[in-house]
Amino acid sequence: MVTPLRRGPRRAGPEPGAEQPPAPPVPAAGQEEIRRQNLGAVLRYVHVHGPTSRAELTSRLGLNRSTIRALAADLSAAGLVSEDVPTSGRRAGRPSLVVSPRSERVYANALSIEPARLRAARVGLGGRILDLREAPRPRGMSPAEAVTELAALVRRMGTGGGDDPPAGDARGADGGDTLCAGGAVAVADTTRDDDGTLHVGGADDALAAALGAELGAGFVAGDMADIAALAEHTRGVAAGINDLVYLHGDTGVSAGIVTGGRLVTGHGGASGKVGHMVVNPGGRGCGCGSRGCWETEVGTQALLRRAGAPAGTSPIAVLRAAAMGDAVAREALRAVADWLGFGVANLVNVFNPDIVVFGGTLREVYAGGARTVRRRLDTMALPASREHLHLRAGALGPDAALIGAAELAFGALLSDPLNGTAAAHPGPRDAGLR
Ligand SMILES: [Zn+2]
Repeated sequence: MVTPLRRGPRRAGPEPGAEQPPAPPVPAAGQEEIRRQNLGAVLRYVHVHGPTSRAELTSRLGLNRSTIRALAADLSAAGLVSEDVPTSGRRAGRPSLVVSPRSERVYANALSIEPARLRAARVGLGGRILDLREAPRPRGMSPAEAVTELAALVRRMGTGGGDDPPAGDARGADGGDTLCAGGAVAVADTTRDDDGTLHVGGADDALAAALGAELGAGFVAGDMADIAALAEHTRGVAAGINDLVYLHGDTGVSAGIVTGGRLVTGHGGASGKVGHMVVNPGGRGCGCGSRGCWETEVGTQALLRRAGAPAGTSPIAVLRAAAMGDAVAREALRAVADWLGFGVANLVNVFNPDIVVFGGTLREVYAGGARTVRRRLDTMALPASREHLHLRAGALGPDAALIGAAELAFGALLSDPLNGTAAAHPGPRDAGLR
C-alpha cells in the first residue's frame, strides 16, 4: 500500500495538485489563516485557468460573493491580479469583473540544465513564457560553470537586452514595477561524456544554493522528469489527473511519478530512476555499472545505434527519416518503441496510473511508434493496469520543464500571496546585480 507521501527533504519536490486549495497546515485555522488560504485559492485559480469572472470564482471556489470581492481587491492591491470590466458583456445589469493574473508584472525565473544546453525563461504568473534564453552546454561543463552561465542568461532577461547588459537601467518592460516570485531549476539527471562515461547526478541543494547566491533570489532544484510531470499535471495533458507517470527521455530516462496527487520522491528525492530498471539482463553495459538497463534500449543512444547514425546525430533526424519511410530508421524506431512498451508495462503494473505521458525524446518516439508501444503493453500489462490507461505525448513539449520549474517557483506565492514573495525573493535589480 502506498501511503500519502510527504515532500522530500530536498525541498525541491514539486507537489502536483494545483487544482486543490492548499492543505491547511494547522488544525484550528484562525481568521488570518483562512484568509491566507482563500487568497491562495483565488490566485491559484486564475494562475491555472486564466482570466475568470468574480461570479465564476464564486461558484468554482464555493465562497460567497462578498468574500470573493474582498479577496480579489486584496490581490489587486498587492499587484498580483487586475480586475477589469469584461469586453463582451451580453447580460443586462452590472457585469461581473474579470480577475486576471498580472503576468507581465509577476514572474518566476525558470531554468533547465539539459544534456546539451542550458535554458532560462522568465515565466509570468499564469504560466506564460515572457522571455526565453538558451546557451550551449559543452561536454564536461562543471556545475559551477553552469550556474555562472545560467545566471548570465537570467541577467540578460532582466535587462531585456541581448548578450551584453546595458549599463544602468535594469528595469522590466513595464518600467521596473516587477515582482520576482523566486526561481527553480530542472536538471536532467543523466549526462554522458564523449568517451561514454555516464554521470548520474542531478538536482541538489548545493546547486539551488549556488544559484540563489548568484541571483539573490530563492531557488529550488528538482529532477527534470519530476518538474515536467508537475507542469503536465497542472496545465498540460494530465491536468486534474492524480495518478500519472511522466517519462522524460534524452540520453537517459527518468520518471516523475504522481500517485494520489502526490509526487513520489523517495529518500532524498532521488526516486524515479526508471532508466536503470533492468529489462534485458543479457544486453548492453550501462554507464551506471549494470547491464541491460532500460535506457540502454530506449535512450537516444539506442535509437542512434540501431539506426546506424553517427554519434552526435540528432535523434529527431532519425525519427524524421522513419516518418519519411527510411527502412533502417523505421526498424530502429520500431525496436525502441517495443522496448518502450516493455518498460511501460512494468511501470503500470506497479503504479497503475490513469495516464502515462511521454516527454523529451520519448515524446517523438511515442508519436512515431504508438501502435508498437500499445501492442507490447497489451501483451505484458495486467488488464486491470491497462484497460483504463491513457498513453499520451506531453502537451507542453520541450517547454514542460521550464513551465514546471515556474510552478515550483510560484509555490510560495500561491500558498501565501501577500507574504510569499517580494522581500523573501527580490528580483535581480533589488538584489543589486550588476
Ligand atoms: Zn543503468
